[in-house]
Amino acid sequence: MEEETMQELRSKAAELLLREEYKDSISAYSQFISLCQDFISEKNPDAAVLERLRKSLCLAFSNRAEARSRLMEVTEALEDCDLALRIERSHVKTLLCKGKILLSLNRYGMALECFEAANLEAQSYENVDLVSGLLEKCKRLDYLSRNGGFDISDWVLSGFTSKTPEFAEYVGAVEISKSEISGRGLFATKHVESGTLLLVTKAIAVDRAIMPPDSSENAQLVIWKNFIDKVVDSASKCSRIKGLISMLSTGEDEESLGIPDIGSFTDSDISSEKLDMERMLSILDVNSILEDAISAKVLGKNVDYQGVGLWVLASFINHSCDPNVRRLHIGDHVVVHASRDVKAGEELTYAYFDILLPINNRREMATTWGFSCRCKRCKFEENIFLKQDMRDIDMVFGKKVVDMGNVVFRLEEAMRRWAIRGKGKGHLRASFWQAYHQVFECEKSMKKWGRKIPLMNVVVDSLVEVVGSDERIVKVFMDGLKRGRFNGAVEMEKALKLGRGVYGKIMKKQALRSLLQFGSAQE
Ligand SMILES: [Zn+2]
Repeated sequence: MEEETMQELRSKAAELLLREEYKDSISAYSQFISLCQDFISEKNPDAAVLERLRKSLCLAFSNRAEARSRLMEVTEALEDCDLALRIERSHVKTLLCKGKILLSLNRYGMALECFEAANLEAQSYENVDLVSGLLEKCKRLDYLSRNGGFDISDWVLSGFTSKTPEFAEYVGAVEISKSEISGRGLFATKHVESGTLLLVTKAIAVDRAIMPPDSSENAQLVIWKNFIDKVVDSASKCSRIKGLISMLSTGEDEESLGIPDIGSFTDSDISSEKLDMERMLSILDVNSILEDAISAKVLGKNVDYQGVGLWVLASFINHSCDPNVRRLHIGDHVVVHASRDVKAGEELTYAYFDILLPINNRREMATTWGFSCRCKRCKFEENIFLKQDMRDIDMVFGKKVVDMGNVVFRLEEAMRRWAIRGKGKGHLRASFWQAYHQVFECEKSMKKWGRKIPLMNVVVDSLVEVVGSDERIVKVFMDGLKRGRFNGAVEMEKALKLGRGVYGKIMKKQALRSLLQFGSAQE
Protein backbone atom coordinates (compact mmCIF):
# COMPACT_ATOMS: atom_id res chain seq x y z
CA MET A 1 0.00 0.00 0.00
CA GLU A 2 2.62 2.52 1.08
CA GLU A 3 4.84 1.50 -1.78
CA GLU A 4 2.00 2.22 -4.17
CA THR A 5 1.47 5.71 -2.74
CA MET A 6 5.18 6.37 -3.00
CA GLN A 7 5.21 5.19 -6.59
CA GLU A 8 2.33 7.52 -7.45
CA LEU A 9 3.92 10.49 -5.72
CA ARG A 10 7.16 9.90 -7.51
CA SER A 11 5.54 9.81 -10.95
CA LYS A 12 3.46 12.86 -10.18
CA ALA A 13 6.52 14.83 -9.01
CA ALA A 14 8.48 13.85 -12.11
CA GLU A 15 5.62 14.86 -14.38
CA LEU A 16 5.27 18.24 -12.66
CA LEU A 17 8.99 18.80 -13.11
CA LEU A 18 8.69 18.07 -16.83
CA ARG A 19 5.78 20.49 -17.07
CA GLU A 20 8.01 23.10 -15.36
CA GLU A 21 5.58 23.39 -12.45
CA TYR A 22 8.47 23.61 -10.05
CA LYS A 23 6.71 24.59 -6.85
CA ASP A 24 4.26 21.69 -7.04
CA SER A 25 6.99 19.34 -8.13
CA ILE A 26 9.07 20.32 -5.07
CA SER A 27 6.19 19.67 -2.73
CA ALA A 28 5.41 16.28 -4.31
CA TYR A 29 9.08 15.26 -4.07
CA SER A 30 9.17 16.42 -0.45
CA GLN A 31 6.22 14.18 0.39
CA PHE A 32 7.79 11.27 -1.43
CA ILE A 33 11.13 11.81 0.32
CA SER A 34 9.61 11.85 3.77
CA LEU A 35 7.48 8.73 3.11
CA CYS A 36 10.45 6.93 1.67
CA GLN A 37 12.69 7.85 4.61
CA ASP A 38 10.02 6.72 7.09
CA PHE A 39 9.57 3.47 5.22
CA ILE A 40 13.30 2.72 5.36
CA SER A 41 13.63 3.45 9.06
CA GLU A 42 10.39 1.73 10.17
CA LYS A 43 10.03 -1.27 7.88
CA ASN A 44 13.64 -2.33 7.83
CA PRO A 45 13.37 -3.62 4.21
CA ASP A 46 15.64 -6.34 2.84
CA ALA A 47 18.81 -5.44 0.95
CA ALA A 48 17.30 -5.53 -2.55
CA VAL A 49 14.35 -3.31 -1.62
CA LEU A 50 16.59 -1.00 0.36
CA GLU A 51 18.89 -0.60 -2.61
CA ARG A 52 15.94 0.25 -4.87
CA LEU A 53 14.55 2.76 -2.37
CA ARG A 54 17.91 4.43 -1.92
CA LYS A 55 18.21 4.86 -5.68
CA SER A 56 14.75 6.46 -5.80
CA LEU A 57 15.65 8.71 -2.90
CA CYS A 58 18.83 9.86 -4.61
CA LEU A 59 16.93 10.69 -7.78
CA ALA A 60 14.24 12.48 -5.79
CA PHE A 61 16.80 14.72 -4.06
CA SER A 62 18.47 15.33 -7.39
CA ASN A 63 15.20 16.28 -9.11
CA ARG A 64 14.08 18.45 -6.22
CA ALA A 65 17.48 20.20 -6.48
CA GLU A 66 16.83 20.75 -10.17
CA ALA A 67 13.37 22.25 -9.49
CA ARG A 68 14.78 24.45 -6.72
CA SER A 69 17.63 25.65 -8.90
CA ARG A 70 15.10 26.65 -11.58
CA LEU A 71 13.41 28.81 -8.95
CA MET A 72 16.85 30.17 -8.00
CA GLU A 73 16.44 28.70 -4.51
CA VAL A 74 20.16 28.25 -4.55
CA THR A 75 21.02 27.29 -1.00
CA GLU A 76 18.29 24.66 -0.67
CA ALA A 77 19.11 23.29 -4.12
CA LEU A 78 22.75 22.84 -3.08
CA GLU A 79 21.65 21.07 0.10
CA ASP A 80 19.57 18.67 -1.98
CA CYS A 81 22.51 18.02 -4.29
CA ASP A 82 24.65 17.09 -1.30
CA LEU A 83 21.94 14.76 0.06
CA ALA A 84 21.75 13.01 -3.31
CA LEU A 85 25.54 12.79 -3.58
CA ARG A 86 25.74 11.30 -0.10
CA ILE A 87 23.68 8.38 -1.41
CA GLU A 88 25.46 8.11 -4.75
CA ARG A 89 28.76 9.95 -4.89
CA SER A 90 29.04 10.08 -8.66
CA HIS A 91 25.43 10.69 -9.64
CA VAL A 92 25.96 12.49 -12.94
CA LYS A 93 22.68 14.40 -13.03
CA THR A 94 23.26 15.74 -9.53
CA LEU A 95 26.89 16.62 -10.22
CA LEU A 96 25.77 18.63 -13.25
CA CYS A 97 23.04 20.39 -11.32
CA LYS A 98 25.44 21.27 -8.50
CA GLY A 99 28.14 22.37 -10.94
CA LYS A 100 25.75 24.68 -12.76
CA ILE A 101 24.58 26.29 -9.52
CA LEU A 102 28.16 26.83 -8.35
CA LEU A 103 29.01 28.29 -11.74
CA SER A 104 26.14 30.76 -11.41
CA LEU A 105 27.61 31.75 -8.03
CA ASN A 106 31.01 32.31 -9.70
CA ARG A 107 32.57 29.52 -7.64
CA TYR A 108 34.58 28.18 -10.52
CA GLY A 109 36.96 25.86 -8.65
CA MET A 110 34.20 23.92 -6.93
CA ALA A 111 32.07 23.85 -10.07
CA LEU A 112 35.04 22.43 -11.95
CA GLU A 113 35.33 19.56 -9.44
CA CYS A 114 31.68 18.67 -10.09
CA PHE A 115 32.01 18.76 -13.87
CA GLU A 116 35.23 16.76 -13.78
CA ALA A 117 33.62 14.08 -11.64
CA ALA A 118 30.57 14.08 -13.93
CA ASN A 119 32.80 13.81 -16.98
CA LEU A 120 34.45 10.64 -15.61
CA GLU A 121 31.05 8.99 -15.31
CA ALA A 122 29.49 10.54 -18.38
CA GLN A 123 30.43 7.76 -20.81
CA SER A 124 27.29 5.95 -19.81
CA TYR A 125 25.26 9.13 -19.68
CA GLU A 126 23.09 10.18 -22.62
CA ASN A 127 24.37 13.78 -22.81
CA VAL A 128 28.09 13.30 -23.15
CA ASP A 129 28.39 16.49 -25.20
CA LEU A 130 26.49 18.52 -22.64
CA VAL A 131 28.88 17.40 -19.91
CA SER A 132 32.01 18.13 -21.90
CA GLY A 133 30.57 21.50 -23.00
CA LEU A 134 29.98 22.53 -19.40
CA LEU A 135 33.41 21.26 -18.40
CA GLU A 136 35.09 23.33 -21.12
CA LYS A 137 33.13 26.46 -20.23
CA CYS A 138 33.95 26.06 -16.57
CA LYS A 139 37.66 25.56 -17.33
CA ARG A 140 37.66 28.77 -19.37
CA LEU A 141 35.96 30.76 -16.64
CA ASP A 142 38.17 29.27 -13.94
CA TYR A 143 41.22 30.32 -15.97
CA LEU A 144 39.84 33.83 -16.52
CA SER A 145 39.05 34.20 -12.84
CA ARG A 146 42.68 33.46 -12.01
CA ASN A 147 44.52 35.59 -14.56
CA GLY A 148 41.92 38.13 -15.67
CA GLY A 149 42.89 37.78 -19.32
CA PHE A 150 39.79 39.39 -20.73
CA ASP A 151 39.70 40.99 -24.10
CA ILE A 152 36.87 43.01 -25.50
CA SER A 153 38.68 43.82 -28.79
CA ASP A 154 36.48 41.73 -31.06
CA TRP A 155 33.32 42.96 -29.41
CA VAL A 156 34.45 46.56 -29.84
CA LEU A 157 35.46 45.96 -33.46
CA SER A 158 32.02 44.49 -34.17
CA GLY A 159 30.54 47.81 -33.03
CA PHE A 160 29.20 46.07 -29.88
CA THR A 161 26.87 43.95 -32.01
CA SER A 162 28.52 40.57 -31.46
CA LYS A 163 27.88 38.56 -28.32
CA THR A 164 29.13 40.24 -25.11
CA PRO A 165 32.54 38.78 -24.25
CA GLU A 166 32.69 36.01 -21.67
CA PHE A 167 33.62 37.30 -18.22
CA ALA A 168 34.44 35.60 -14.97
CA GLU A 169 34.70 37.30 -11.62
CA TYR A 170 38.30 38.31 -11.04
CA VAL A 171 40.09 39.74 -8.04
CA GLY A 172 43.41 41.28 -9.05
CA ALA A 173 46.10 42.98 -6.95
CA VAL A 174 43.66 44.42 -4.41
CA GLU A 175 42.75 44.03 -0.76
CA ILE A 176 40.27 45.55 1.66
CA SER A 177 41.69 47.65 4.44
CA LYS A 178 40.85 50.54 6.75
CA SER A 179 40.58 53.75 4.78
CA GLU A 180 41.51 57.27 5.77
CA ILE A 181 38.71 58.50 3.53
CA SER A 182 35.87 56.64 5.19
CA GLY A 183 35.42 53.27 6.87
CA ARG A 184 36.94 50.64 4.64
CA GLY A 185 38.39 50.89 1.18
CA LEU A 186 40.02 48.89 -1.57
CA PHE A 187 43.82 49.12 -1.87
CA ALA A 188 46.40 48.12 -4.46
CA THR A 189 48.69 45.36 -3.23
CA LYS A 190 51.36 46.12 -5.81
CA HIS A 191 52.43 48.78 -8.26
CA VAL A 192 50.25 48.69 -11.37
CA GLU A 193 50.37 50.75 -14.51
CA SER A 194 47.52 52.65 -16.09
CA GLY A 195 44.98 50.35 -17.74
CA THR A 196 45.74 47.33 -15.51
CA LEU A 197 42.68 45.25 -14.73
CA LEU A 198 42.02 45.17 -10.99
CA LEU A 199 38.60 43.69 -10.54
CA VAL A 200 35.70 42.11 -12.37
CA THR A 201 32.56 41.51 -10.42
CA LYS A 202 29.08 40.44 -11.36
CA ALA A 203 25.98 42.25 -10.19
CA ILE A 204 23.98 40.69 -7.37
CA ALA A 205 21.05 42.25 -9.20
CA VAL A 206 20.50 45.05 -11.66
CA ASP A 207 17.39 46.68 -13.07
CA ARG A 208 17.38 48.65 -16.28
CA ALA A 209 15.14 50.70 -18.50
CA ILE A 210 15.34 53.11 -21.38
CA MET A 211 14.74 56.45 -19.70
CA PRO A 212 14.64 59.55 -21.91
CA PRO A 213 15.81 62.71 -20.10
CA ASP A 214 12.19 63.83 -19.59
CA SER A 215 11.22 60.65 -17.73
CA SER A 216 9.20 61.18 -14.59
CA GLU A 217 10.56 60.71 -11.12
CA ASN A 218 8.05 57.92 -10.87
CA ALA A 219 9.78 55.98 -13.64
CA GLN A 220 13.02 56.23 -11.63
CA LEU A 221 11.23 54.91 -8.57
CA VAL A 222 9.92 51.95 -10.52
CA ILE A 223 13.47 50.95 -11.49
CA TRP A 224 14.61 51.39 -7.90
CA LYS A 225 11.75 49.30 -6.53
CA ASN A 226 12.28 46.49 -9.05
CA PHE A 227 15.96 46.50 -8.21
CA ILE A 228 15.28 46.21 -4.47
CA ASP A 229 12.81 43.35 -5.07
CA LYS A 230 15.43 41.51 -7.10
CA VAL A 231 18.11 41.88 -4.41
CA VAL A 232 15.76 40.85 -1.61
CA ASP A 233 14.63 37.83 -3.63
CA SER A 234 18.19 36.70 -4.39
CA ALA A 235 19.28 37.17 -0.78
CA SER A 236 16.35 35.14 0.53
CA LYS A 237 17.16 32.26 -1.79
CA CYS A 238 20.93 32.22 -1.49
CA SER A 239 22.84 32.39 1.77
CA ARG A 240 26.08 33.28 -0.01
CA ILE A 241 24.48 36.36 -1.59
CA LYS A 242 22.98 37.26 1.75
CA GLY A 243 26.41 36.88 3.34
CA LEU A 244 28.05 39.08 0.71
CA ILE A 245 25.44 41.82 1.14
CA SER A 246 25.66 41.73 4.91
CA MET A 247 29.38 42.59 4.69
CA LEU A 248 28.48 45.99 3.30
CA SER A 249 28.19 49.21 5.21
CA THR A 250 24.87 50.76 6.16
CA GLY A 251 26.59 54.14 6.20
CA GLU A 252 26.63 54.23 10.01
CA ASP A 253 29.37 53.44 12.46
CA GLU A 254 31.88 53.15 9.63
CA GLU A 255 34.88 53.01 11.94
CA SER A 256 33.83 49.87 13.77
CA LEU A 257 33.30 47.72 10.68
CA GLY A 258 35.27 44.50 10.28
CA ILE A 259 37.72 44.03 7.42
CA PRO A 260 36.58 41.18 5.17
CA ASP A 261 39.28 38.97 3.75
CA ILE A 262 39.59 39.47 0.00
CA GLY A 263 39.53 35.67 -0.34
CA SER A 264 35.88 35.58 0.72
CA PHE A 265 34.98 37.07 -2.62
CA THR A 266 36.39 34.19 -4.58
CA ASP A 267 35.89 30.49 -4.03
CA SER A 268 34.92 30.26 -0.39
CA ASP A 269 31.94 29.94 1.88
CA ILE A 270 30.41 32.97 3.50
CA SER A 271 28.24 32.62 6.52
CA SER A 272 25.09 34.62 6.25
CA GLU A 273 24.34 37.14 8.94
CA LYS A 274 21.14 38.62 10.13
CA LEU A 275 19.86 40.95 7.46
CA ASP A 276 16.48 42.50 8.14
CA MET A 277 14.68 44.71 5.65
CA GLU A 278 15.70 47.95 7.34
CA ARG A 279 19.38 47.04 7.23
CA MET A 280 19.04 45.80 3.64
CA LEU A 281 17.52 49.11 2.51
CA SER A 282 20.27 51.15 4.20
CA ILE A 283 22.90 48.96 2.56
CA LEU A 284 21.34 49.35 -0.89
CA ASP A 285 20.99 53.08 -0.36
CA VAL A 286 24.70 53.43 0.41
CA ASN A 287 26.17 50.88 -1.99
CA SER A 288 24.10 50.73 -5.17
CA ILE A 289 25.52 52.41 -8.23
CA LEU A 290 24.14 53.67 -11.48
CA GLU A 291 25.44 52.24 -14.70
CA ASP A 292 25.29 55.72 -16.21
CA ALA A 293 27.56 57.21 -13.52
CA ILE A 294 30.10 59.71 -14.74
CA SER A 295 32.93 57.22 -14.38
CA ALA A 296 31.13 54.60 -16.40
CA LYS A 297 30.95 54.02 -20.08
CA VAL A 298 28.02 51.82 -20.75
CA LEU A 299 29.48 50.41 -23.89
CA GLY A 300 27.25 49.76 -26.81
CA LYS A 301 24.07 50.91 -25.12
CA ASN A 302 21.34 53.39 -25.97
CA VAL A 303 22.14 56.91 -24.72
CA ASP A 304 18.94 57.07 -22.66
CA TYR A 305 19.63 53.74 -21.06
CA GLN A 306 19.74 53.62 -17.27
CA GLY A 307 20.51 50.84 -14.89
CA VAL A 308 20.96 50.56 -11.15
CA GLY A 309 22.74 47.64 -9.57
CA LEU A 310 24.75 46.24 -6.70
CA TRP A 311 28.29 45.04 -7.32
CA VAL A 312 29.53 44.00 -3.89
CA LEU A 313 33.31 44.24 -4.07
CA ALA A 314 33.25 47.35 -6.27
CA SER A 315 31.18 49.15 -3.66
CA PHE A 316 34.15 49.10 -1.27
CA ILE A 317 35.79 51.69 -3.53
CA ASN A 318 35.63 55.19 -2.07
CA HIS A 319 35.33 58.49 -3.86
CA SER A 320 38.20 60.89 -4.46
CA CYS A 321 38.49 63.99 -6.63
CA ASP A 322 41.90 62.54 -7.59
CA PRO A 323 40.65 59.13 -8.66
CA ASN A 324 42.98 56.41 -9.89
CA VAL A 325 40.55 53.78 -11.18
CA ARG A 326 37.59 53.74 -13.53
CA ARG A 327 34.84 51.25 -14.10
CA LEU A 328 33.22 49.98 -17.24
CA HIS A 329 29.86 48.28 -17.23
CA ILE A 330 29.77 45.39 -19.65
CA GLY A 331 26.72 43.14 -19.48
CA ASP A 332 26.07 42.38 -15.82
CA HIS A 333 29.73 42.78 -14.96
CA VAL A 334 31.57 45.81 -13.73
CA VAL A 335 35.19 45.94 -14.81
CA VAL A 336 37.54 48.11 -12.74
CA HIS A 337 40.97 49.15 -14.02
CA ALA A 338 43.67 51.67 -13.12
CA SER A 339 43.15 55.02 -14.86
CA ARG A 340 46.71 56.08 -14.09
CA ASP A 341 49.79 54.41 -12.60
CA VAL A 342 49.07 53.29 -9.03
CA LYS A 343 51.62 52.59 -6.28
CA ALA A 344 51.51 49.56 -4.00
CA GLY A 345 49.45 50.35 -0.90
CA GLU A 346 47.63 53.27 -2.51
CA GLU A 347 43.89 53.37 -1.93
CA LEU A 348 41.86 52.79 -5.08
CA THR A 349 39.25 55.47 -5.70
CA TYR A 350 36.92 56.47 -8.44
CA ALA A 351 34.81 59.52 -9.05
CA TYR A 352 31.23 59.24 -7.81
CA PHE A 353 30.42 62.41 -9.76
CA ASP A 354 32.05 64.72 -12.28
CA ILE A 355 35.36 65.84 -10.82
CA LEU A 356 36.43 68.04 -13.76
CA LEU A 357 34.79 71.00 -11.97
CA PRO A 358 35.82 73.52 -9.30
CA ILE A 359 35.50 72.77 -5.62
CA ASN A 360 32.17 74.52 -5.06
CA ASN A 361 30.44 72.46 -7.73
CA ARG A 362 32.01 69.29 -6.38
CA ARG A 363 30.89 70.11 -2.86
CA GLU A 364 27.30 70.40 -4.02
CA MET A 365 27.46 67.02 -5.73
CA ALA A 366 29.09 65.37 -2.73
CA THR A 367 26.25 66.71 -0.59
CA THR A 368 23.67 65.04 -2.80
CA TRP A 369 25.67 61.84 -2.30
CA GLY A 370 25.48 62.41 1.44
CA PHE A 371 29.11 63.09 2.26
CA SER A 372 31.68 65.86 2.26
CA CYS A 373 34.92 65.15 0.45
CA ARG A 374 38.15 65.67 2.35
CA CYS A 375 40.56 64.49 -0.33
CA LYS A 376 43.94 66.17 -0.86
CA ARG A 377 42.66 68.05 -3.86
CA CYS A 378 39.68 69.43 -1.95
CA LYS A 379 41.91 70.54 0.94
CA PHE A 380 44.35 72.18 -1.47
CA GLU A 381 41.58 74.00 -3.30
CA GLU A 382 39.91 75.10 -0.09
CA ASN A 383 43.09 76.98 0.77
CA ILE A 384 43.65 78.41 -2.67
CA PHE A 385 40.06 79.62 -2.80
CA LEU A 386 40.74 81.82 0.22
CA LYS A 387 42.53 84.09 -2.26
CA GLN A 388 40.37 86.79 -3.80
CA ASP A 389 42.01 86.36 -7.23
CA MET A 390 40.98 82.72 -7.25
CA ARG A 391 37.42 83.55 -6.38
CA ASP A 392 37.34 86.13 -9.18
CA ILE A 393 38.53 83.58 -11.72
CA ASP A 394 35.90 81.14 -10.47
CA MET A 395 33.22 83.78 -10.81
CA VAL A 396 34.10 84.57 -14.44
CA PHE A 397 34.20 80.82 -15.13
CA GLY A 398 30.80 80.36 -13.51
CA LYS A 399 29.27 82.97 -15.80
CA LYS A 400 29.97 80.64 -18.73
CA VAL A 401 31.58 83.45 -20.66
CA VAL A 402 32.12 83.01 -24.35
CA ASP A 403 35.85 83.56 -24.19
CA MET A 404 37.20 81.07 -21.69
CA GLY A 405 40.72 81.92 -22.86
CA ASN A 406 40.63 84.72 -20.35
CA VAL A 407 39.90 82.28 -17.51
CA VAL A 408 42.71 79.97 -18.59
CA PHE A 409 45.15 82.83 -18.99
CA ARG A 410 44.33 84.35 -15.60
CA LEU A 411 44.52 81.01 -13.86
CA GLU A 412 47.90 80.15 -15.40
CA GLU A 413 49.22 83.62 -14.48
CA ALA A 414 47.93 83.25 -10.92
CA MET A 415 49.51 79.80 -10.53
CA ARG A 416 52.83 81.27 -11.69
CA ARG A 417 52.54 84.15 -9.19
CA TRP A 418 51.70 81.79 -6.33
CA ALA A 419 54.49 79.43 -7.39
CA ILE A 420 52.08 76.50 -7.63
CA ARG A 421 53.85 73.50 -9.10
CA GLY A 422 53.37 69.84 -9.86
CA LYS A 423 50.16 68.32 -8.62
CA GLY A 424 48.71 71.66 -7.56
CA LYS A 425 48.72 72.74 -11.18
CA GLY A 426 47.02 69.53 -12.22
CA HIS A 427 44.36 70.03 -9.56
CA LEU A 428 43.40 73.53 -10.65
CA ARG A 429 43.57 72.70 -14.34
CA ALA A 430 41.22 69.78 -13.66
CA SER A 431 38.82 72.11 -11.87
CA PHE A 432 38.73 74.52 -14.78
CA TRP A 433 39.00 71.84 -17.43
CA GLN A 434 35.92 73.11 -19.25
CA ALA A 435 37.68 76.43 -19.86
CA TYR A 436 40.79 74.69 -21.24
CA HIS A 437 38.61 72.38 -23.25
CA GLN A 438 36.77 75.28 -24.88
CA VAL A 439 39.96 77.07 -25.80
CA PHE A 440 41.76 74.02 -27.16
CA GLU A 441 38.75 73.06 -29.27
CA CYS A 442 38.22 76.48 -30.81
CA GLU A 443 40.48 77.68 -33.65
CA LYS A 444 39.59 81.30 -32.96
CA SER A 445 40.42 81.08 -29.27
CA MET A 446 43.65 79.29 -30.06
CA LYS A 447 44.66 82.09 -32.41
CA LYS A 448 44.01 84.60 -29.68
CA TRP A 449 45.36 82.71 -26.65
CA GLY A 450 47.46 79.88 -28.04
CA ARG A 451 50.80 81.60 -27.43
CA LYS A 452 49.89 82.84 -23.97
CA ILE A 453 48.80 79.57 -22.43
CA PRO A 454 50.58 76.22 -22.03
CA LEU A 455 50.48 73.64 -24.80
CA MET A 456 47.53 71.29 -24.81
CA ASN A 457 49.60 68.18 -24.23
CA VAL A 458 51.39 69.77 -21.29
CA VAL A 459 48.00 70.49 -19.72
CA VAL A 460 46.78 66.96 -20.50
CA ASP A 461 49.87 65.41 -18.87
CA SER A 462 49.51 67.40 -15.68
CA LEU A 463 45.80 66.60 -15.46
CA VAL A 464 46.07 62.89 -16.09
CA GLU A 465 48.83 62.63 -13.49
CA VAL A 466 46.37 63.67 -10.77
CA VAL A 467 42.87 62.71 -11.93
CA GLY A 468 43.66 59.83 -14.25
CA SER A 469 42.44 59.40 -17.77
CA ASP A 470 39.01 60.56 -18.88
CA GLU A 471 37.27 60.28 -22.23
CA ARG A 472 36.80 64.06 -22.44
CA ILE A 473 40.51 64.64 -21.99
CA VAL A 474 41.25 61.97 -24.57
CA LYS A 475 38.83 63.63 -26.97
CA VAL A 476 40.63 66.97 -26.81
CA PHE A 477 43.92 65.16 -27.25
CA MET A 478 42.62 63.22 -30.27
CA ASP A 479 41.20 66.36 -31.86
CA GLY A 480 44.59 68.04 -31.40
CA LEU A 481 46.18 65.08 -33.17
CA LYS A 482 43.69 65.32 -36.02
CA ARG A 483 44.47 68.96 -36.53
CA GLY A 484 48.07 67.89 -36.90
CA ARG A 485 49.32 70.11 -34.16
CA PHE A 486 51.50 67.37 -32.77
CA ASN A 487 54.06 64.92 -33.94
CA GLY A 488 52.30 61.73 -35.13
CA ALA A 489 53.78 58.47 -33.89
CA VAL A 490 54.87 59.54 -30.39
CA GLU A 491 51.61 61.29 -29.72
CA MET A 492 49.61 58.35 -31.03
CA GLU A 493 51.37 56.10 -28.51
CA LYS A 494 50.39 58.60 -25.85
CA ALA A 495 46.80 58.63 -27.07
CA LEU A 496 46.71 54.83 -26.77
CA LYS A 497 48.06 55.06 -23.24
CA LEU A 498 45.38 57.61 -22.36
CA GLY A 499 42.85 55.30 -23.97
CA ARG A 500 43.98 52.39 -21.79
CA GLY A 501 43.39 54.61 -18.78
CA VAL A 502 39.80 55.14 -19.91
CA TYR A 503 38.94 51.69 -21.27
CA GLY A 504 41.48 49.34 -19.71
CA LYS A 505 43.94 47.16 -21.59
CA ILE A 506 42.55 46.33 -24.98
CA MET A 507 44.60 43.72 -26.82
CA LYS A 508 44.05 44.87 -30.38
CA LYS A 509 45.33 48.37 -31.14
CA GLN A 510 42.69 48.77 -33.82
CA ALA A 511 39.97 48.20 -31.22
CA LEU A 512 41.49 50.76 -28.87
CA ARG A 513 41.73 53.24 -31.75
CA SER A 514 38.09 52.73 -32.54
CA LEU A 515 37.20 53.26 -28.87
CA LEU A 516 39.10 56.55 -28.94
CA GLN A 517 37.00 57.56 -31.93
CA PHE A 518 33.91 56.29 -30.16
CA GLY A 519 34.71 58.53 -27.18
CA SER A 520 35.18 61.54 -29.37
CA ALA A 521 31.97 60.88 -31.28
CA GLN A 522 29.96 60.86 -28.05
CA GLU A 523 29.30 64.57 -27.80
ZN1 LIG B 1 37.62 65.85 -3.03
